[in-house]
Amino acid sequence: MEAPKNASWSFKYLLKIRPEITPILVGLVQEVSTSYIWDKLRPPAPKVPWHHMVWFSGRISKHSIIVWMALLNRLPTRVRLLRMGLAIETDKCLLCGEEAENRDHLFFECQFARDLWGSILNLCCISREGCSWESELAWATLLFKGKSLIVVVLKLAWSGHIYGIWNEKNGRLFENRVRSNDELLGDIKETIRIRLLGKVFNRLDLVNNALCANWGIA
Ligand SMILES: [Zn+2]
Repeated sequence: MEAPKNASWSFKYLLKIRPEITPILVGLVQEVSTSYIWDKLRPPAPKVPWHHMVWFSGRISKHSIIVWMALLNRLPTRVRLLRMGLAIETDKCLLCGEEAENRDHLFFECQFARDLWGSILNLCCISREGCSWESELAWATLLFKGKSLIVVVLKLAWSGHIYGIWNEKNGRLFENRVRSNDELLGDIKETIRIRLLGKVFNRLDLVNNALCANWGIA
């Protein structure tokens, strides 16, 4: 669609960024095969340090789209929408109502997200101080390598966390649906449980054993 000459700046901008927001809208509606959209939109990206945290074997396509957009900082958070010139009422985070809703706040600094991420790390038997987008990304980029069960679980859980937080924000915004941290964690656990169903691990390994027990992996 060509933008009409008299269209507003913000409308023209929306048309311009349409390729970016399409997968998000699709991800929300979830009526179209996200893997199809993903394959169509997946850019011939230069190798970025966090490449392996998006495109890993066993990934969930609808999660990967949101993770990819988050890593590029292209998700339409309230701060970004305001910068684009959209007339929205507030820049306050939908999950806590306290801080400006930008990517870094939404996914790791917001108390709601911190609690969820803390629970995920707990289930992975990991104890970490501090929680920010930069610190978690640097940590994950460095450590989410290899094929051990802990790495597989962490990659799925990290993607599930980003997707879950984004989905929760949109549920509250568009559907007036509020879900608890426990419900989001339950979804992530279920996703991981199903993804790893029937996979063979070294059950004698103590870490694997703890992971299987904590995440309900059969
Ligand atoms: Zn918040």
